[in-house]
Amino acid sequence: MTELSNLILDRIRDVPDYPKPGVLFKDITPLLADPVAFAAVTDELAGMYEVDKIVGIEARGFILAAPAALRAGAGFVPVRKKGKLPSETLEESYDLEYGSAVIEVHRDAFVPGERVLIVDDVLATGGTARAAVELVRRAGADVVALAVLMELAFLKGRERLTDVEVRSLVVV
Ligand code: AMP
Repeated sequence: MTELSNLILDRIRDVPDYPKPGVLFKDITPLLADPVAFAAVTDELAGMYEVDKIVGIEARGFILAAPAALRAGAGFVPVRKKGKLPSETLEESYDLEYGSAVIEVHRDAFVPGERVLIVDDVLATGGTARAAVELVRRAGADVVALAVLMELAFLKGRERLTDVEVRSLVVV
C-alpha cells in the first residue's frame, strides 16, 4: 500500500445506508477538506498521462477533474446528467438498479483524436463509467484511461471496462 493510498483510505468516510438501506456510501468530503490530501490526489491524477482534456463525470468527478486538468495543463470537459448542458449534445443511457439514467457531453467538446482521461470518484458497477467512455469516444476523442479514487472491487465494474485502461488510486 502506498502512502497516497493510505491517505485516501484514511480520508474517505463510510456512511452506511446512504442513500438507501444496504448501500455503504464512500464520502470523499473529508478528503476534499484536507488541502494536503486534495493536492496529493490532484497531482496524482494530473501526472498519470499526457492528455489534451480531462473529463469529469457529474458531480463529484467535476471536483477532482477540474483541478487535475488545470495542474496538467489540459482542458476540462464536463459529462453531465441529461438536460444540463446548454449547447448541442450527444447522449448515452445506462441502466441503474431501478430504471435508467442518461448522461451527455457537448458534441463539440473535443477536437477529433484528442487524448482524454475520464475521472470520477468511485467505480462501483461500472455502468456510469461505461456510458462515459462510449460518449467520449462517440464525440471523437481517444480515451486514454479512466481514473477513480476508489474502486469497489466486489461490484466488478472492471469487467464492463475491459477495453479501457482503468486506474484506481485505491481498491477496496
Ligand atoms: P456505477 O455506475 O455503479 O459504477 O456507480 C458509479 C457512480 O455512482 C459514481 O459516479 C459514484 O459517484 C456513484 N457511486 C456508486 N456507488 C457509490 C458508493 N458506494 N459511494 C459513493 N458513490 C457511489
